[in-house]
Amino acid sequence: MRILIAEDEPRISRFVARGLKAHGYTPTVVEDGITALDYASSGEFDLLVLDVGLPRMDGFAVLRALRDMGAEIPVLMCTARDSVEDTVHGLEGGADDYLAKPFRFEELLARIKLRARERTGGTTQPTQEILELGDLSLNLRTRVATVGTGAQKREVELSSREYALLALFLEHPNQVLTQEIILSRVWGYDYDGASNVVVVYLRYLRKKMGADRFITVRGAGYKLVDPRES
Ligand code: CA
Repeated sequence: MRILIAEDEPRISRFVARGLKAHGYTPTVVEDGITALDYASSGEFDLLVLDVGLPRMDGFAVLRALRDMGAEIPVLMCTARDSVEDTVHGLEGGADDYLAKPFRFEELLARIKLRARERTGGTTQPTQEILELGDLSLNLRTRVATVGTGAQKREVELSSREYALLALFLEHPNQVLTQEIILSRVWGYDYDGASNVVVVYLRYLRKKMGADRFITVRGAGYKLVDPRES
């Protein structure tokens, strides 16, 4: 799937392009509206991630021009202006979806996957609903985690950050995740708060689900294991 990213902030476009590549997409970055319109109307792209605030021609104008020329490329608008008015404006202009900045990469990825499924008429395999490792499981639809088996099985309540962190670990069981990866996936590219936030949230998860599941690998990062196997 070839994705065109129209974004004039290199920090954001680098972050998005890198993430998309890691997930098997082919991203191309353009930095102004005129080039975005030119590339997007070429028919060579499957999706346009379109920033509203672009030099030379803003995102809304690009979108209108695309639709005026009959280009049907799906468009995901991104903007810092997250007011309802702008959202409606964007959607009326022919955008298929809308993402308010700052966004987490996982949010963007979820929207892209949704577009990809729609394009293929929903024929791709259904997304996995439950992630598991040993006696730990997480339902991605209800966002409920459980630990233990049989009579010991209990539900664990999670905050949205804890949920995102646990989901990331369960997607990569027994793999070391660096603090940098965790920060970018769970907190987003714009995160510039305290760097010990990962440690703090791991402490919450350890307290709720057992300390022996979340292993600290010194100098490298953290990994989720099944304690009954180690
Ligand atoms: Ca911009």
